[in-house]
Amino acid sequence: MTEFAPVPGFALGAEIPESGYVLNDLGGGVYFVTQGMINTMFVVTKKGVVLVDASPFLGDKLPAAIEEVTSKPLTHLIYSHAHADHIGAAHLLNRDGLKIISHEITGEFIKEAKDDRRPLPTETFSGRRKEMDIHGVRFVLDYTGDWHQAGNLFIHLPELRMMGAMDSFTPKSAPFFRLYFSAHVPAYFNAMDQLLEYDFETIVTGHMALPGTPEDVATNREYIRDLRSAAAEALRTVDLKEAAAAAKVPESNRQAELKVWMDAVVARAAELMPSWDKRLAGTDIFLADNLNATAWSVFID
Ligand SMILES: [Zn+2]
Repeated sequence: MTEFAPVPGFALGAEIPESGYVLNDLGGGVYFVTQGMINTMFVVTKKGVVLVDASPFLGDKLPAAIEEVTSKPLTHLIYSHAHADHIGAAHLLNRDGLKIISHEITGEFIKEAKDDRRPLPTETFSGRRKEMDIHGVRFVLDYTGDWHQAGNLFIHLPELRMMGAMDSFTPKSAPFFRLYFSAHVPAYFNAMDQLLEYDFETIVTGHMALPGTPEDVATNREYIRDLRSAAAEALRTVDLKEAAAAAKVPESNRQAELKVWMDAVVARAAELMPSWDKRLAGTDIFLADNLNATAWSVFID
């Protein structure tokens, strides 16, 4: 059985009470809500509430969380991207007059999914940027590249110095699985640089129980750069034919050769990685997956 290290204290958020969620006041009318594995944010404006995403893991808890701080109605729902784990409870909140905003690519993915839980956006935009003033709060929606899924957004509230970037990274933890299932790994690396160009104090990134800071973005960038250096060095030093011979792969089986070679690259890269367990949780859980995604990208992109 695989043994996992306990989650270090620095990566634990507040304990989740019986209500099933924790609400944090981030200031300026912005609130962070988490159920432990998944999180999001909403903003109370002069006239209503602007919610980012509606996860099925939070779906039934979102109205209660919002009611804790305001009796104003939900006026806008912004889809950060199309994935069902983030917006698969939007149907529970949908009603006539609710504005649902996303990038047009997100709208296309939702159309393709034919999923009743994910109502189509009522308003989409194409290209790189949409700026909106919603009842006195400025929202800048930026599509800077396919760092997670095509159509994914940075949701910046410049005056409030807040950022939403769902599925970009996890504060105090290693990225989930294969660099958060990044659709385009070079864009994932770029995204950390791009995020650090915005002015914000707090960032909400979609998973686990903690909001983050620019320092957390910088830490994630440092970690993935270590992944890239280790993967590049392993690619330089692990030989395909030697790896295949060591694994006794039959000579004509080229697919098996490729598989054992990449496994050997990942194993070698793992040995080359500096120790991160004092700074990030989950490095033991996701190291091989993250190295696999990184190594393939270094090899082919
Ligand atoms: Zn996602």
